[in-house]
Amino acid sequence: MSDIDSLRNILELERRKGYTDKAVIGGLDKYLHKQAGQIRQSINDPQLLRGFDELNLAKSNYSACDLDERKRWMANVLDWLDKLERATNKKSSQESGVGRQETVVRRQETRVRSQESVGRSQKGEEGLESPVTVIKGVAINIANKFAKFNVRTVNDLLYFFPRRYVDYSQRKPVSALIEGEEQTIVGTIWQARVATLGYRKGTEAIVGDETGNVRVVWFNQPYLAKRFRTNARVVISGTVGLFKGHKVFESPEWELLEDKELIHTGRLVPVYPLTQGLYPRQVRKWTKEAVDGFAWQLDDFLPADIKTRCQLLDLPAAIAQIHYPDDRTMAERARGRLSFDELFLLQLGVLARKRNWQEGQPGNAFHIDREVISRFLGCLPFALTQAQERVLHEMLTDLQQAKAMSRLLQGEVGSGKTVIATLALLIAAANGYQGALMAPTEVLAEQHYANICSYLSKVGTQEPGEGTIRRYTGFLSGPLTVALLIGSLSSADKQNLHDKIKQGEVDIAIGTHALIQKEVEFSKLGLAVIDEQHRFGVLQRSALRQKGFNPHVLVMTATPIPRTMALTLYGDLDISVIDELPPGRQVVKTKCLEPQDREKAYTFLHRQVSNGRQAFIICPLVEESEVLEAKAATTEYERLSREVFPNLKLGLLHGQMPSNDKENVMRSFRGGELDILVSTSVVEVGIDVPRASVMMVEGAERFGLSQLHQFRGRVGRDKEQGYCLLIPEKISPEARERLLLMERVHDGFALAEKDLEIRGPGEFFGARQSGLPDLKLAKLTDLHSLELARQEAMTLFQSDPDLKKAKHKRLRQQLSRAWSGAAEWS
Ligand code: ADP
Ligand code: MG
Repeated sequence: MSDIDSLRNILELERRKGYTDKAVIGGLDKYLHKQAGQIRQSINDPQLLRGFDELNLAKSNYSACDLDERKRWMANVLDWLDKLERATNKKSSQESGVGRQETVVRRQETRVRSQESVGRSQKGEEGLESPVTVIKGVAINIANKFAKFNVRTVNDLLYFFPRRYVDYSQRKPVSALIEGEEQTIVGTIWQARVATLGYRKGTEAIVGDETGNVRVVWFNQPYLAKRFRTNARVVISGTVGLFKGHKVFESPEWELLEDKELIHTGRLVPVYPLTQGLYPRQVRKWTKEAVDGFAWQLDDFLPADIKTRCQLLDLPAAIAQIHYPDDRTMAERARGRLSFDELFLLQLGVLARKRNWQEGQPGNAFHIDREVISRFLGCLPFALTQAQERVLHEMLTDLQQAKAMSRLLQGEVGSGKTVIATLALLIAAANGYQGALMAPTEVLAEQHYANICSYLSKVGTQEPGEGTIRRYTGFLSGPLTVALLIGSLSSADKQNLHDKIKQGEVDIAIGTHALIQKEVEFSKLGLAVIDEQHRFGVLQRSALRQKGFNPHVLVMTATPIPRTMALTLYGDLDISVIDELPPGRQVVKTKCLEPQDREKAYTFLHRQVSNGRQAFIICPLVEESEVLEAKAATTEYERLSREVFPNLKLGLLHGQMPSNDKENVMRSFRGGELDILVSTSVVEVGIDVPRASVMMVEGAERFGLSQLHQFRGRVGRDKEQGYCLLIPEKISPEARERLLLMERVHDGFALAEKDLEIRGPGEFFGARQSGLPDLKLAKLTDLHSLELARQEAMTLFQSDPDLKKAKHKRLRQQLSRAWSGAAEWS
C-alpha cells in the first residue's frame, strides 16, 4: 500500500467517524507531521506538488480546529487526493491498460481493509512496543508461540520476516491455465460441496470465469465447503495438476474476493517460518494487520543523505514491502534496505569499538631497528615468502604508530605466521617492552617456545639455564629472556615466572591461559600476540590486552575467513593475509571413499604405521553435544584398539577429558609413543606432528570444508607424502559433490568461500562468535552490500563519531539497541 493510499484511508475513516480525530492513534496531526515529507516524495507532477504544498500537511493543526473547519480542511485534502488519483490513473492507463484496472481494484480492496485496522487501533494507546496481543485474533496462547521466535511486541512482529515468497501473482484466465505452473485465477464459485477424496472427506468446488471452468479440491478440509457460497467471488492460487486428463487445483491457497487486499493469493505471498500451532493463513493475517496498523509509526533512523545516496527505501515502506511486496523488485529493494540496516549497524558498532582502543589512549610507537630484523632473517634457514614480506611490512608500519595496532593475521597452516610474530616480539623487546604470545593449548605453547628458541639460538648465544626460561645474548643490546608459562608447571616455577614477568626480567612470555591469570602482572607489556585466536573467547582476548597499557595486538588464525566474513566479524581489525605457502610444500593427497572402503583404509593405515608414520582417525561430529561425541569417540577407540589395530598403540582425545590428560595424550602422540590418535574435532588446533602422514575422517559429510581442510593440514608436515581419507556415513549426491571438492581444491580460502556459499554463515558464526548483533537478512556473501555499508559507516563515523548530532539521535538509539547484549570484544 502506498503512502498516498494510507493517507486517503485514514482521512476517509476520520470523516466517517464524524471528524472526532480518532482515526489514528496519537491524532491526525502527529501522523501528518511525520508522513508529509514522505508523501511529498511520491509526487512527481509539479502542479500537483504545488497543490500539495499549499495543503501544508507538515504543519497541520487539525486538533485545534472546530468541526466546520475540520470539514472544510478535509474536503480540501480529499479533493487534492482525487486530482492526484486521476492524474496517476491517466498516466498508468497510458502505460498499460490492464495494469490500471488492477491498480484500481487493488486500491479499493485496500481501502476498506485499512479502515478496519486503523479503526481498531484507535481503541487504546497501542504502539510498536505493545505486546502482540493487541493484534486482533492474537490471544495469549498464540503470543506464546510467537515468543518462540522472539516475537513479543508489535515491533518484533514487523521484524518477523518471511523466509521466502510464493509467486501467485500470475493471474490467468481459466482457459489459459498451464499444467505444472504456479498460477492464480479469479473466478466465481459455481458449486462447492463436501466430497470423498481418496478415502477421506474433503471439499470439491467448480470455479469459473468467462473463459471456462476448473475443478478445485482440498483434501481433508471438508469444512471449507460451507465457506464457499455459490456465486461468491474467489481467488485461487496454486499449482495446476492433471486428474484423468482434466486440469485441477489440488489444495491451493484460496481467498474470497471480498473488499480486502489479497494476502494469500494473487500476489507474492509471504511464507513465514512456522512453529506448531501457527498456521500460515493466520500468520499472514496478523502480519498484514501489523503492517497496516503500525508500520507507519516506525522511526526511520537512517540519515536521509545515506538513504538517498544508497537509494534505499524508507523504513516503513521497506517493512511493508518485505511482508507484502508489490512485486519481486520491491521485495528485493525491501530486503536491500533492511539488510543494509543490519550491516550498517554492525559496522558502526565495530568501528566504535576499534576507536575506543585506538584513540581512547595513545599507544606505544616502536622504533624499528632494521639491523635487528635483517640479522634475524639472515640466520633463518629460509627466505621469507613474498606474502610474508608483505605482511611483515604491514605490521611494522603499524608498530611505528603511536596508536595500538589491531591486526588479524590470517594464513594457512604452515604458511609461516610464527616467524612474523617472532619478529614483532623482537621489535617490542628491542624497544624495551615486553611481549606475550598466547596459544590455546599447552602443546601449542610448547611448540612455539621450542620454535622461537631455536630461531634465537641461531642469531644469539644461549646462556645455560632452566628449561622454561632461556636467555640469549649477543643479539639485542642487552640479554633477551624468553619464558614459557603454562598451567602444568609446578607452583614454585610459576611463582618464579610471575615474579620475573612482574619485574620486567622476562622479555617474551609464551604461554596458555596461564598468561591471563590475575596473578600475572607485566611490568611493561607492549605487544600481545594471540595464536589461533578463534579458539579463545572474547573475554580471554581482552584479558590479555588489559595486561598492558594499550599494547599492540596481533591475532593470528589459520582458519581462512572469506573477506566478506572478515569485514563483518573483524571489521574492527586490520587484516593481513599470508596467501602463499613456502616453496616445496606438498599437497596432501585427498580421497573421498565409500563407507564400504573402510577396511581398505585400515590396511593403508597399517602399512603407513609399519613404515614409521603416524595417523589420526577423526570421529563424526555430534551436533550440539560434546558429551555424546566423547562417548562415541570412546566406543570407537575401544573398538579400533580391540578389533582393528590390536597390535598398535592407540590414543584417545576428546573435549570431555581434563585438560591435563588431553595435553599428555598430545604430547605422547607428538613424541611418537602412539601410532594412531583417535580424536573428536578437538584436534583441529594447529598442532605439529612431523611424522603424522594419514588423516582419516569418519562421518566426513558432517564437517565443513574449512574444518576438513584444517584436519588435513595436520599431516604431511615434513617431506613424506601426506594422505587424507574422507569416509562419509550416509551421503546425498550434493554432499558428495561437496566432499569431492576436497580432492581437487587445496586452497583454504577457496574452500572457505565454498563453505560459506553452500552452508551459509551460520557455520562460521558458531556460538563462539556470538557477541555480534543478529543478522536476519544480510547475506555475508554479498560483498557489495557489505562494502557499501562499511563505506557509509566510515563516512558517518568521520563526520560524527559519537553520533552526537541531533539528526543522528535516532540512529544512536538504534545502535545501542542493536548492540545491547553483544559482549565486549577483545
Ligand atoms: P603456521 O602459519 O601454521 O603457524 P609456522 O609458522 O608454524 O606456520 O611455520 C611452519 C613451518 O614452516 C615452520 O617449520 C617454519 O620454520 C617454516 N617456514 C616458515 N616460513 C618459511 C619460509 N618462508 N620458507 C620455508 N619454511 C618456512
Ligand atoms: Mg601456527
